[in-house]
Amino acid sequence: GSGRLIANSRVVSIRFSASDADSNPTYEFQAETKKLLDIVAKSLYSEVEIFVRELISNSSDALNKRKFEEMAAGGDPPALEIKLHFDKSNNKLIIEDNGIGMSQEEAMTNLGTIAKSGSQDFMTAVKDENSASAQSIIGQFGVGFYSVFMVADGVDVFTRRWNEDVGLHWRSTGDSGYTIEPKEGLNVGTRIELTLKPDSREYADPSHVKKIVQKYSSFTSFPLYCDGEHV
Ligand code: ADP
Ligand code: MG
Repeated sequence: GSGRLIANSRVVSIRFSASDADSNPTYEFQAETKKLLDIVAKSLYSEVEIFVRELISNSSDALNKRKFEEMAAGGDPPALEIKLHFDKSNNKLIIEDNGIGMSQEEAMTNLGTIAKSGSQDFMTAVKDENSASAQSIIGQFGVGFYSVFMVADGVDVFTRRWNEDVGLHWRSTGDSGYTIEPKEGLNVGTRIELTLKPDSREYADPSHVKKIVQKYSSFTSFPLYCDGEHV
């Protein structure tokens, strides 16, 4: 099928091909998304570590959004924080926040299409597909979530919106699409597990990542923990 969603007051079309009989359907990324993934993966290798900054800033945004939305609804959000965990034997870097989380529709829109101003501006600026220009403008625009595919060949997002009972599991290998399925028993917020590419294993090492996190900790005003240690 094909559908249209309103995202951040911008209308975007999404095309997806779900294998309906399946309980774990595969959705295709929007064509623009594929292009962005391609450019990000191929041209930003000299600044790979910026994916850490993008993840921290997304978690920070999510914590702010939860704070305001839950308080506006008369609720009292718990202590809001960001935690990085490491699973060296499984080659994983994990970032977790107890922020706003995403509904299924939000996950499909926010993680599957380029509706976001930063990414949109980035794409416009690299229209010539010149990798040198992509590198020079990376500082001006956040490339956002997709930068994780520079270091990961598998990305699992577990997320549950603060005002919903059931969460979901989004997964992508960054090739052409993603799967999404409901998931019981999740905490409120978002947990992103990166399965690292063989040449990016250093990101499963807490001491390596801690140094990078220190550079970018100013991107959030919330407590940030790296392997249990306050950064
Ligand atoms: P931007 O941050 O510029 O909006 P990104 O590509 O970094 O673009 O992220 C895309 C969107 O995905 C965000 O706007 C947000 O809606 C959603 N998102 C990403 N990470 C999280 C998270 N940790 N918690 C909740 N939503 C998230
Ligand atoms: Mg972002």
